[in-house]
Amino acid sequence: MSLVELRGVSVQLGQVQALRQIHLALQPGEIVTVVGESGCGKSTLGRAVLGLLKPIAGQVLYQGQDLFAPGFRLSDELRLSVQVVHQDSYASLNPVRRVGQQLAAPLKRHKLTGDVHEILAQVGLTPPEYFAAKLPFQLSGGQRQRVSLARAALLKPKLIVADEPVSGVDATLRLAILDLMRRLNQEGIAFLYITHDLATARYLGRGGRMLVMYLGQVIETGPVEDLLDNPLHPYLQALLAALPPLDPRRAREVKPLPLRSLDMPDPTKPPSGCSFHPRCPYARERCSQEAPPLRELQGQQVACHYAEEL
Ligand code: SF4
Repeated sequence: MSLVELRGVSVQLGQVQALRQIHLALQPGEIVTVVGESGCGKSTLGRAVLGLLKPIAGQVLYQGQDLFAPGFRLSDELRLSVQVVHQDSYASLNPVRRVGQQLAAPLKRHKLTGDVHEILAQVGLTPPEYFAAKLPFQLSGGQRQRVSLARAALLKPKLIVADEPVSGVDATLRLAILDLMRRLNQEGIAFLYITHDLATARYLGRGGRMLVMYLGQVIETGPVEDLLDNPLHPYLQALLAALPPLDPRRAREVKPLPLRSLDMPDPTKPPSGCSFHPRCPYARERCSQEAPPLRELQGQQVACHYAEEL
């Protein structure tokens, strides 16, 4: 059974339909990566998975149970099975409580057993007694993010929603945090990894699935390597073409895809038909009139009328 499933979920935030008809089933032990520009709805998707947003259509199921069914009460066990790690570890930690106290508090609150020093050692904060006595401002960004991961992992979740967890971390420490997440995954914790960074998506998400979002919709999905090596949707092609090549000698050979506009459309007035058509270099008349459904193609799913021709 899926840990969490979104069935045709649409979410309205003010004047914006932030999620449109999302289908996603998260399985035990897997890593699913969600990518897209800021404002595409990927963080909203994370919040929907956390059960924080009531959909205007569709269902959010935790282990088969509809969170928003009338009269349903979420058990502690189900609530704790899904944890979150945010981008801003400083804001998510209490600035006046020592690390050890912050980790122990939820264990006490939920009457759980867990060893704070052991988890600190597991996330590489050694000696643990030294780090347990620290206040958040006495730690580096990378160390604080390790504390956030330790706090999430201590509650023995089945799934961690990690929303841009390495964006605020120095580049040199990013790989260490991603490796730590990978290790927690190998111990059985599934991850929903939300990022705008395709390089870390490839690194952490390898072997797993990826969703590409645009204006609240999934426009391409499939195995991470397949999408990144053989993107079918012009939007993903454009995102990849904008990346600097790994080999600087190839810099002149790589040509960015000429988008018709660099700006994301106003989300309060999404374009008709294919929502990418005002920016798409391949758009034809049909594209502004008819929304392309997500459909199977070459082992992936893509929402583009002309994906096999591009
Ligand atoms: S449906 Fe048309 S506008 Fe949309 S991505 Fe495909 S070619 Fe471009």
